[in-house]
Amino acid sequence: MIRRFKTSKKIMSTMLVLVLLITVFSIVHAKADNTKIYKDEIEQSVRKVLTDGFSEYYKINNIKIRFDDVVVNNQNIEVNLLATMNTALKVKKVSELPYVKGMLKRINLSDFSYESKAKTDEAVVKANKNNLKNEQLAKVSKAIDFKFNDLQQYINKSDDNFFYLKITADISNDKIVQNSIKILAENIDSFVPIKQMLPKTSLEMEKEGFNDIQLVIDSKEKQYLPNLYSNYDRIAARDYANKWSSNPTSCKDHGTTCGIRQDRDKWNNSDYPYYNELCHADCADFVSQALHAGGIPMDSTWKRGTPANTSVAWVNTHSLKKYMLTTKKYWKSSTYASAAAGGILYTSSGHVVLIVKNDTVTRQYSSHTNDTKKHNYSNINGYKYYVLW
Ligand SMILES: [Zn+2]
Repeated sequence: MIRRFKTSKKIMSTMLVLVLLITVFSIVHAKADNTKIYKDEIEQSVRKVLTDGFSEYYKINNIKIRFDDVVVNNQNIEVNLLATMNTALKVKKVSELPYVKGMLKRINLSDFSYESKAKTDEAVVKANKNNLKNEQLAKVSKAIDFKFNDLQQYINKSDDNFFYLKITADISNDKIVQNSIKILAENIDSFVPIKQMLPKTSLEMEKEGFNDIQLVIDSKEKQYLPNLYSNYDRIAARDYANKWSSNPTSCKDHGTTCGIRQDRDKWNNSDYPYYNELCHADCADFVSQALHAGGIPMDSTWKRGTPANTSVAWVNTHSLKKYMLTTKKYWKSSTYASAAAGGILYTSSGHVVLIVKNDTVTRQYSSHTNDTKKHNYSNINGYKYYVLW
């Protein structure tokens, strides 16, 4: 009897342990499952906001989501993710872009179709000879010619757009509260509501084109500034910036502890050897490299070598601007709307990045610190734009 009792006690306790284990497993399992459900819901809302925002102007080929960081608390969830959206412009001709329509409207050329620089000159003169001076006609014609040639590369071409997003949402009864999802997008060195990263209305873009041509007409330059570095190959600079940056999840040296996304394994280490002072501080060095790839020659004031042989103008954002804008006069001020690939963007805090795309609907930059490749940006008051043409 005693023995039998003991045996059943043993069986009982074993069963108890089993039940406990199953309970623990199922709780853990349930939590993991919920996280997956939350992530799916967040992914859906990101897909929706991007699709709704961009599909008026773009065919969206696909959207991929990379979750970098997911923190689930009892009442909310915080997510950092990289969204990659592959798109192609819907318009089949440059002249159908709202921005270009605005440009053409300002100079009475609404039915213009581009053939050549000579034909553009002819058309601009014919439609504006009574209200613009000769030098204005020449500048306008040059600006139209530039835009048509630049924008042609974006027609019938698919490419990637990257968005680094910070998303928060409330959780109630193991469900995401739908209207609590907040999506912030990294806009170079600050975060803005995702809405600000979406294309503007056609009317707003038309206005941007109209205003940019007005700026050309009003500019005091007699001709295009002779000091601008005339051999600058802006496409080579752009390609360099896109080649030597990446979209890492964290820092190669400090993981997630420093809060900087930096992967110096993807840098051009053979031409520009890494040294410690560049850690978390490589934005100007990177833009200088791109400008040099675009043909701007080094000199004693602007050069890169070992730490001792690298000049301040090469690695310091403020000194770089002073050298390019004031000393050499290679740069001139531009606008958010007009600055094209190969141009330079300074944020209000003095961070510098290279502009790698402007199809008049979407603008992108590539940079170091954080390392980014083809991230979309929108204008923020205080951002400054420079071009070399
Ligand atoms: Zn770090």
